[in-house]
Amino acid sequence: MIEVKNLSKRYGPNVALNNISFSVEEGTVVGFLGPNGAGKSTTMNIITGYLSASSGSVTVGGYNTLDNPNEVKKLIGYMPEIPPLYPDMTVKEYLNFMYDLKKVTLPREKHLKEICALVKITDVYPRLINNLSKGYKQRVGFAQALLGNPPVLILDEPTVGLDPKQIIEIRNLIHNLGKKHTIILSSHILPEIQAVCERIIIVNKGNLVADGTPDSLSQNLSADHKLILRVEGNETEVKNALKAVKFVETVQSCGEKEPGVFEYEVEARDGRDVRRELFRAAASKNFPILSMTNAGLSLEDVFLRLTSAAYLQDTVSETITEGEEEE
Ligand code: ADP
Repeated sequence: MIEVKNLSKRYGPNVALNNISFSVEEGTVVGFLGPNGAGKSTTMNIITGYLSASSGSVTVGGYNTLDNPNEVKKLIGYMPEIPPLYPDMTVKEYLNFMYDLKKVTLPREKHLKEICALVKITDVYPRLINNLSKGYKQRVGFAQALLGNPPVLILDEPTVGLDPKQIIEIRNLIHNLGKKHTIILSSHILPEIQAVCERIIIVNKGNLVADGTPDSLSQNLSADHKLILRVEGNETEVKNALKAVKFVETVQSCGEKEPGVFEYEVEARDGRDVRRELFRAAASKNFPILSMTNAGLSLEDVFLRLTSAAYLQDTVSETITEGEEEE
């Protein structure tokens, strides 16, 4: 449904997006996750045709955003981070105004009524937008994105500034909409994405650093065989013995956990499984291994690892001039 190919965006000397590519199948809910300033809004603005790319292309439903901007806009309901509301209008006036602006052809009264029921704003329909709570304003923003029943929804940080109850309501709404729509949802909050998305794309400093299901992302990174060992014996000697094992890259001491027993974090190179060699090395020096476990990564660990400076230095060629961080 959505194809993003080699997309780059520069603001003067700042590279906001650095050659990112991904595609979104019809009917999926994809989370676009990254810290502030990662390039999420820029990507969304380019997909929706509000911003032009420096290079690369985007197609939505087979239409190129540059060649057929109107066709693309018809397919997309967009809710920017700050919904484009007119505070001096009532909800009714605003939605009717947007209905005309978007040249929606569905039966007006019935369509507006359905949308209002869906996003639960029927009770504030006659009220002035200015007097609504933030949660209600957000839902009115949602309602305008749903006008014309577009197959694709792009939601930029849809729950920012809402209270926990409102957040749950909006999440449930997205979950329900996901049954019939293709949705890209951006957020810098991991649990938000985890709660509603089947697939997660992680961006950092303009680079796409991961793309997969929540489970596959956790598994892939855990698969680089980071092990936690508890070993009895002199800390330095044990550390040296473990370090000497072939393919072991780092051995980090995590302190004394029982009298004379220290914990170590061992990382192997190239995802090698070094458990047997560690056992033999420790046994040959008479250092009993009391426990050895795989350090599984939560999705939160994954996110932090992928968006930490150290990881990026290792994995991404540094072609980026870092932009200002926005908060
Ligand atoms: P996110 O939505 O992930 O917080 P953005 O897409 O808003 O990130 O921003 C990506 C980078 O581009 C940031 O470094 C930001 O400072 C920069 N940026 C965004 N908009 C502009 C602009 N209009 N002019 C200059 N730099 C911008």
